[in-house]
Amino acid sequence: MSTTDAPASEAEASFLSLWADIEAIGSAAGVLGWDQETYMPPKGQPRRGQVLATLAGLGHDKLTSPELADVLAAAETEAGGDPDGVLAAQTREARRTVTRASAIPADLTRRVAGANSRALAAWRQAREDNDFKAFEDDLATNIALTKESAGYLVDAGIADDPYDALLDGFEPGATRSQLTPLLRSLRDELSPIVRAAADSGIRVDETPAKGFFPTDAQFAFGHMVAEQMGYDFEAGRLDVSAHPFTTGFGPKDVRITWRSEEEDFRPGLFGIMHEAGHALYEQGLPDEWAGTPIGNAVSLGVHESQSRLWENLVGRSRPFWQWALPRFAETFPSKADVTVDALWPALHTCVPSLIRVEADEATYNLHIVARFEIEQAIFDDEVEVGDLPTLWDDTYEELLGVRSPVVADGVLQDIHWSMGAFGYFPTYTLGNLINAQLFATMRETLDTDALLAAGDLRPILEWLRENVHRHGRRYPAPELVERATGRPLTADYFLSYLRGTMSDVYGINA
Ligand code: ZN
Repeated sequence: MSTTDAPASEAEASFLSLWADIEAIGSAAGVLGWDQETYMPPKGQPRRGQVLATLAGLGHDKLTSPELADVLAAAETEAGGDPDGVLAAQTREARRTVTRASAIPADLTRRVAGANSRALAAWRQAREDNDFKAFEDDLATNIALTKESAGYLVDAGIADDPYDALLDGFEPGATRSQLTPLLRSLRDELSPIVRAAADSGIRVDETPAKGFFPTDAQFAFGHMVAEQMGYDFEAGRLDVSAHPFTTGFGPKDVRITWRSEEEDFRPGLFGIMHEAGHALYEQGLPDEWAGTPIGNAVSLGVHESQSRLWENLVGRSRPFWQWALPRFAETFPSKADVTVDALWPALHTCVPSLIRVEADEATYNLHIVARFEIEQAIFDDEVEVGDLPTLWDDTYEELLGVRSPVVADGVLQDIHWSMGAFGYFPTYTLGNLINAQLFATMRETLDTDALLAAGDLRPILEWLRENVHRHGRRYPAPELVERATGRPLTADYFLSYLRGTMSDVYGINA
């Protein structure tokens, strides 16, 4: 398998062939994981867990094997002759993955896996019982083990700082010194907008989005929209799952899931647009790089930029609904009288709330700012685990002006910490900032309003294919954003988009 026009050397071929085995194991696990969330009968769970653990072990063994170390070193030597070449990008990405996998001793990896699985069970029960004490010890263990792991990652040269080493696991190269100014400007700018919306006295009429929407009609409409976006159903499928997700096994097989509410069409449709946005990215990765280190999506932040661009900047825009509304009315005849002007505000509410996953696009990033600040306090040893519920509530009160009466809707709301996923949350906000910057750049050369109003979404996809998808992991995420938009990532584009919508809906001049 060659990744350049020149024939592959022996070193390159041996390295990529071993790597393809590792990716194949990952794909096998991915298919089983997809099945587990969609069609597997419940009694299959324990055995499936064993099979997935075996595959994970096999993948880890291959990743840390002397054979791979040898061929990777040989490929690195060869890539040194052309540091900007494709092979150099392949070895850079492989080295990063191998370093992370090798940095943490096997015994610690096993302890982490055991602790995470106990903490996950404890968290579920604690949230149901609204009892933080029942989760406190397991959370403390997860934090201690994560600190230990982060120490090993720092020693291995992944990052200079433990929290940066955790961020790097989800957003390679991201650091708190890069994120802090971005999230601080969101904190400073969004809080006043959210308060002004609350003080405006305007309550958005959401009845155009509510009523009765039969599930099969929602499926048909969502399927049609995904197809219009360019999602290739010959290389994908749409199934039902409790939590919507996207999973891909190379660009020719990228599957999405959804769930719906019969009394509100928004979660179903925007869920499909969100996941189809993720899937378009994976379907657009270069086929000739499938199974190689750079044949994957570059980071969770860039992944999330693709889903949110389609969900929010396309799916919640007026011009899109000029095209979509007649089709919507045909599918849901009870909504035949709804106009774009009546529907649009219901797609852009701003109501401070306690729960991140139910938050609107204006308040969402404040939920992330809160988690970013709290996680840093944890990893800088500035807070005791027992004090986290209070720190959580105080931070929410400061940022969003709301305080949870119950801990289940406060510090216990998210699954992430129970799984040991610290440093994950900022990728959601990076997605919002990146998508706004990409879309603003796209609009310099494309009349997206006219295209959307005509339902011609193809040029938008082509722009993303050209500037984002086809590069895979060829460039690190910050460099990819800069190449696509001509400047480093900033919060300006997202904030100006949000000021625009909030001024239209709430009459705020922030
Ligand atoms: Zn997503």
